[in-house]
Amino acid sequence: MLSRTDLRSAVPSAAELRTTLPRAEVDVDAALHLVRPIVEDVRTRGVDAALELTERFDGVRPASVRVPAEALASALAGLDPAVRAALEESTSRARRVHADQVRVDKTTQVVPGGTVTERWVPVSRVGLYVPGGLAVYPSSVVMNVVPAQAAGVESLVVCSPPQAAFDGLPHPTVLAAAALLGVEEVWAVGGAQAQALLAYGGTDTDGTELAPVDLVTGPGNIYVAAAKRLLRGLIGIDAEAGPTEIAILADETADPVHVAADLISQAEHDPLAASILVTTSVALADEVDAELERQVKATRHAERVTTALTGAQSGTVLVATVTDGLRVVDAYAAEHLEIQTADARAVAARVRNAGAVFVGAWSPVSLGDYCAGSNHVLPTGGCARHSSGLSVQTFLRGIHVVDYSEDALREVSGHVVALAEAEDLPAHGQAVTARFRDGA
Ligand code: NAD
Repeated sequence: MLSRTDLRSAVPSAAELRTTLPRAEVDVDAALHLVRPIVEDVRTRGVDAALELTERFDGVRPASVRVPAEALASALAGLDPAVRAALEESTSRARRVHADQVRVDKTTQVVPGGTVTERWVPVSRVGLYVPGGLAVYPSSVVMNVVPAQAAGVESLVVCSPPQAAFDGLPHPTVLAAAALLGVEEVWAVGGAQAQALLAYGGTDTDGTELAPVDLVTGPGNIYVAAAKRLLRGLIGIDAEAGPTEIAILADETADPVHVAADLISQAEHDPLAASILVTTSVALADEVDAELERQVKATRHAERVTTALTGAQSGTVLVATVTDGLRVVDAYAAEHLEIQTADARAVAARVRNAGAVFVGAWSPVSLGDYCAGSNHVLPTGGCARHSSGLSVQTFLRGIHVVDYSEDALREVSGHVVALAEAEDLPAHGQAVTARFRDGA
């Protein structure tokens, strides 16, 4: 079922691998020209524009952007108890992991009388985007809100597309998840118009102020990604999280039933989702193909899964050794990487590039999607080479606080003047020497 690339005789260089490995073509640049007028319209006409665009793209016009408090309370009251218990467990595990990410301020005594302190200060107000086009993502509420709260963000708003089936409110499970986490502000707006409204703010239909945010995080489709790219600078953004990806590095010890199930689990997200098997075993590759045929038939979203698995972005890569496999997965830099080999822990320790690594037979990506405690908002499209997933750090800024005494400044003043002269910026040096004019 999966197309095959045979690299058993030689593995190309990392640079060549970037172009030869299967990858989804997501041309965010091409969406920029579609999204630019949307962003401009919301900038100039605020909520009126956002509601018109919502009517056009989501087929419904909510009475207001801000979801009323009663709607949040009634969504929570109506939440299926099993889903509530699962969300509570997911939240409690995520809170434990994210609490350990909190940074402490650190003061370095550079010289006697001279210190530099790094103060970690949360972003003041953030917008957390929870997608809502093709699927419902209450788990993304948990994954966005938990690190923001752990970082100490004072003001946060969750934003999710309104649904025609729910009178223009976001999906009730998303509302319930927000309420469960103590979020009071939820906006019913999606896509590019949501990012623009978060960046510029506006006045709601009832006259309530919708305050702009400093940072937007969360996954979304190509319009969301393009709008974030356009607004970057005015607001901060996290790494672009596009269509999901799973790569599995497996040898002959892997169970083909598990491997096939995990490849399908991510293909279910999106027709553009990528499922890649990198293996040293042709027998395993054959068995996984047979399993895929069998399991796909029985899965609910068979059509979407088949499109994803047979798309150019998915496939099997055959390699001669696990070390060659590591070179391949490092070059690919998957959002999710499973290691299903003998001595999986040791192999996982050698991985350099991945959004998250799942070790051995009992740590499937689905566990990380919901209940491992790890964050599931992760870099895609190879961005794991340079970026991390969402964490407490995403919501913090490190501010250097410089505190030198007169003696400590005097002691280093000659070096400051020398460097200022070398850069032809003499006023920099004079700002120091002016303090010691009496020659003391
Ligand atoms: P979405 O909320 O991102 O997008 C829906 C919005 O797109 C709608 O509200 C609508 O306003 C806008 N839109 C639709 N058609 C448009 C058009 N022609 N022009 C302009 N705007 C338009 O939801 P989605 O579409 O389901 O996408 C969610 C994405 O997020 C998927 O690709 C999924 O794989 C990804 N995802 C990633 C992660 C991760 O951590 N990487 C997690 C969850 C979801």
